Amino acid sequence: MKKWRCSVCGYVHDGDNPPTFCPKCNAAAEKFNEIPAEESALIERARKTNHCHVQLLALLEEVKKVAAVGLADELDPPCVALFRKATQTAHELQQAIKAELAGHMGKGKWG
Ligand SMILES: [Zn+2]
Repeated sequence: MKKWRCSVCGYVHDGDNPPTFCPKCNAAAEKFNEIPAEESALIERARKTNHCHVQLLALLEEVKKVAAVGLADELDPPCVALFRKATQTAHELQQAIKAELAGHMGKGKWG
């Protein structure tokens, strides 16, 4: 699908034509430039990767919930240690993912 970038604010629109007005800054359609196919493909890849990051964040949240159930049961020390490690590792991965996503947004890789 064609993509158009607002020359005023950088918003990316997907469609055969630019929007009548930019939904972000209200600039008129003629302020939009068509994004070349190669760059457009990169934007699609960045979106896919961002989606993977968001899915991982949600799965890691599930890991923390399951580990919390195990921690509450306290069957034996090795189990408790493992559930603590799962919680800690999930938390660390979530922090790393959030930092990576913040980097993407800073570089305009969130189209
Ligand atoms: Zn705009």
